[in-house]
Amino acid sequence: MAEGDKTPDDAELLRTLTPAQYAVTRLRATEPPFSGELLNHHEEGTYECVCCGQTLFKSDAKYDSGSGWPSFVEPASDESVSTRSDTSHDMNRTEVICSRCDAHLGHVFDDGPAPAGRRYCINSLAMRFSCAQPQQGLSESSNQ
Ligand SMILES: [Zn+2]
Repeated sequence: MAEGDKTPDDAELLRTLTPAQYAVTRLRATEPPFSGELLNHHEEGTYECVCCGQTLFKSDAKYDSGSGWPSFVEPASDESVSTRSDTSHDMNRTEVICSRCDAHLGHVFDDGPAPAGRRYCINSLAMRFSCAQPQQGLSESSNQ
C-alpha cells in the first residue's frame, strides 16, 4: 500500500472518498460556493489531490478571489495539473484535472491577477492540505 505512481481505481475511491469528494472528482460536480473548508485556509503548505496525493498547488499561489472557491494563480508545477476544454452547461470553459489520476479539480479562467492573469478556481473537496512541516525520516542537521 505504499504511495507511488499507482492511480487509485474507481472501486477504491468509492471506499476512501466521501460521497461529496467522489461527486466532485469523478463525476465533475461543483461544490456550493463559500462551502469549502479550504476556502479561507491560509497555512503554509501544499494542496494535494484527494484521490492520488499528487501535489497540485502551493499555499503561496493561493489568493482570495471572492468567487467562493479556493483560487490559485498557478499550479505547483507545469506537470501538476492538466487542462481540457469543457463545453458543458452551454459554457466554454477550461477544466482543470489532476495530471496523474484525471480527478476533476475545477476550472481555470483568464480573469486572475497580474502578471499571469490566471485564476485556478478549485473545489475544496478535490484537495487535501499538507502542512509545510519537514517530514519525518528526512535527514536532520541538528542531531547526529
Ligand atoms: Zn490525482
